[in-house]
Amino acid sequence: MSAMEELLERHGTVGRQAAASRAEGLPARPALHTVVVTCMDARIDVYRLFGLAPGEVHVLRNAGGVVTDDVVRSLAISQRKLDTRDVLIVQHAGCGLSTFTDDEFAAELVERTGSRPDWRCHTFADPAESVREGMALLRRNPFLVPGMRVRGFVLDLAGFGLAEVDGDGSATAVA
Ligand SMILES: [Zn+2]
Repeated sequence: MSAMEELLERHGTVGRQAAASRAEGLPARPALHTVVVTCMDARIDVYRLFGLAPGEVHVLRNAGGVVTDDVVRSLAISQRKLDTRDVLIVQHAGCGLSTFTDDEFAAELVERTGSRPDWRCHTFADPAESVREGMALLRRNPFLVPGMRVRGFVLDLAGFGLAEVDGDGSATAVA
């Protein structure tokens, strides 16, 4: 059985019923009015990390958990149409995006495909610096709501502690 077939099998046996029962009666608006932006890393269980239930937050994930144009697009919709206000950016130590550079990956794609991507990878050497850039991008984006509150963190995948990035160069352990 392929992994895709396995997933569809799991959906039919347990997933469908479990997901439906957890979402029953919930409105589309996130109850906590909050968005979590984080990395797609398969080890990060965002729901368990913050003790979340369905219906409480929007979770935006991509490679690195970086603030891309598409994250801004989703945040604008989340805030303007679904009343969210607070944004948590959670990137992590040991991220795959620290293992190569934008130029290296673009060169690899050119070599393999003959085409150069028209998008950036947003790789980073220091996740705290990337979080800081993301927070700054959001704070000066004109399409996001003025009352938005943004906090940024670096997650340690060894103990799953969070170190807050305060925006002026330092990080403080909060858990
Ligand atoms: Zn990552």
